[in-house]
Amino acid sequence: MNIHEYQGKELLAKFGINIPAGVAALTVEEAVAAAKTLPGPLYVVKAQIHAGGRGKGKFKELPADAKGGVRLAKSVAEVEANAREMLGNTLVTIQTGDAGKQVNRLYVTDGVDIAAEYYLSMLVDRASGRIAMIVSTEGGMDIEAVAHDTPERITTITIDPATGFMPHHGRAVAFALKLKGELNKQAAKISQQLYTAFTTLDCAMLEINPLVETTDGNLLVLDTKMSFDTNAMFRHKDVEALRDETEEDPMEVEASKYDLAYIKLDGDIGCMVNGAGLAMATMDIIKLNGMFPANFLDVGGGANKEKVTAAFKIILSDPAVKGILVNIFGGIMRCDTIAEGIVAAAREVDLSVPLVVRLEGTNVEAGKAILASSGLPIVAADDLGDAARKIVAEVKQAA
Ligand code: ADP
Ligand code: MG
Repeated sequence: MNIHEYQGKELLAKFGINIPAGVAALTVEEAVAAAKTLPGPLYVVKAQIHAGGRGKGKFKELPADAKGGVRLAKSVAEVEANAREMLGNTLVTIQTGDAGKQVNRLYVTDGVDIAAEYYLSMLVDRASGRIAMIVSTEGGMDIEAVAHDTPERITTITIDPATGFMPHHGRAVAFALKLKGELNKQAAKISQQLYTAFTTLDCAMLEINPLVETTDGNLLVLDTKMSFDTNAMFRHKDVEALRDETEEDPMEVEASKYDLAYIKLDGDIGCMVNGAGLAMATMDIIKLNGMFPANFLDVGGGANKEKVTAAFKIILSDPAVKGILVNIFGGIMRCDTIAEGIVAAAREVDLSVPLVVRLEGTNVEAGKAILASSGLPIVAADDLGDAARKIVAEVKQAA
């Protein structure tokens, strides 16, 4: 689960971490009111979308030379003019894809006099089984390019969960950032605070880019991206409440209501599969046959009729889907039960595209018989290869 920059900063501030003052705004009027609560005379108006690269982003509706999603304003009137230009328009950044994201919220924040921009992020590193802190003197710009072109400028420090964050970790961060004196102490302190925030809030990822050194010698969090371990959200109701569903794919939101693991992809063939590994294999074999999956969808081990119906509706609501491939392995859940679910769901949703079903496992013959006698145009397949060939052929024929 992701949250907005301003929400992330508000969470970090509770851990004593330095952030510039700022207020979120949903309307131009709110943006003006927000600016009036800040000292000025320099303000920054920032688009709040769940994507980075806003500063260098472009608004679809504005001329190509218009400013991006992070704008300096030198007066309240300039805040107002910028807010008017940004709200409701679509910001395209390297992280949004071509479609971009509509800007529905702004963050009006204090303008900071920047002396240097650094990079600091943390993530759960599965390879080491630790939390990794990644720091670089090259903040503010595209960190992927730094990692690619000058990897020696990136330092990774891993923290053993058994010891937690130790003073030497803080010193290693400060050393990697080449900071001296008072700033060195601040770097050690802020990395300790960020580690505490990360573990306390069950973050999956926390990225500060940039972490800035101000001209008056302070370290400040100027931008943050935070994501959380969804499985831990039950113990952070306050964080869960920050979820902004308008930032998420509507079909993914619908899927999460039924506990379906669904991810929208760019292809033509909708997939409904039980088990993540089987779903991956199904996507691979569709590609092997020359087409692309329209989604990843794992209905899980305990799929019942309600889940199967919900999954069908989600797949069919995607206008890109030209055919559906159901690939289910009946283990604890028997094939006849699944077949009944598929038939009921296909009737309920008024099937408009070819449907190929491959069932295997317990009671498979009974399951196939239910599909065959349903009167629905369901194409049965014997194995995964057969199923993929059949759905590709069906879709090509229908086209
Ligand atoms: P993004 O990473 O989405 O482009 P950032 O918040 O990192 O957005 O902003 C981009 C750049 O804008 C920063 O690297 C920094 O140089 C500048 N900037 C952002 N916030 C402020 C601020 N409050 N004061 C001064 N400059 C800022
Ligand atoms: Mg940034």
